[in-house]
Amino acid sequence: MIQINTSRRVEVVDITPDVQKEVEKSGIKDGLAVVYTPHTTTAIVINENEPGLIEDIVFVLDKLVPRGAGYMHDEIDNNADSHLRAMLLGNSVVIPVTNGKLELGTWQRIMFLELDGPRSRRVIVKVIEG
Ligand code: ZN
Repeated sequence: MIQINTSRRVEVVDITPDVQKEVEKSGIKDGLAVVYTPHTTTAIVINENEPGLIEDIVFVLDKLVPRGAGYMHDEIDNNADSHLRAMLLGNSVVIPVTNGKLELGTWQRIMFLELDGPRSRRVIVKVIEG
């Protein structure tokens, strides 16, 4: 399990080293790593950790799902945009593990997206042999 404390409402956190550590802890050399976030206002994606691109991701999320655009859920909990953004991005990724290493491409990183921070969050990593 990976513990993440975010400090902004929308934040992108590169969790690749933490996931690699969980793979090593499992002792499994070949299989699949499932990386899952058990929250309704966070997401997990694989992409490049480049500062300009991180800003672009935040910008596009704002364009696609603007905050406070008359959503029903805002009437009971002021974070409909966070739920909708999370739903579009997805809450898990699966990565092949070979020789004890995550099989990521040169520019691929595992990114946790906080969409309703700051909060204390969890990411669950399960490694399945096979
Ligand atoms: Zn809500």
